[in-house]
Amino acid sequence: MCDKLKEFSSEDFDNVDTPIIFIRKFDEYGLKIWDGGSSSIVIDFCPWCGEKLPTSKRDQWFEEIEKLGIDPWTEDVPDKYSTDAWYRK
Ligand SMILES: [Zn+2]
Repeated sequence: MCDKLKEFSSEDFDNVDTPIIFIRKFDEYGLKIWDGGSSSIVIDFCPWCGEKLPTSKRDQWFEEIEKLGIDPWTEDVPDKYSTDAWYRK
């Protein structure tokens, strides 16, 4: 990860100094959309140096949760699915 990406990304959506969000549980970088919600647009490459960023594991995350028979919208997910623990095996 280059210095620029380090400087301008964080896991804190409300940090206005960092336009890039890193969502650890999905291994996903995105551009924050400050419209009052907390959505973001996934980016595949670093905007500054062009480095390939991790491929988002968002779909995989939902697949695994589904396999466990959990509805992530209404039920709590196991702790490891709130972090990167589930894919760092
Ligand atoms: Zn970079």
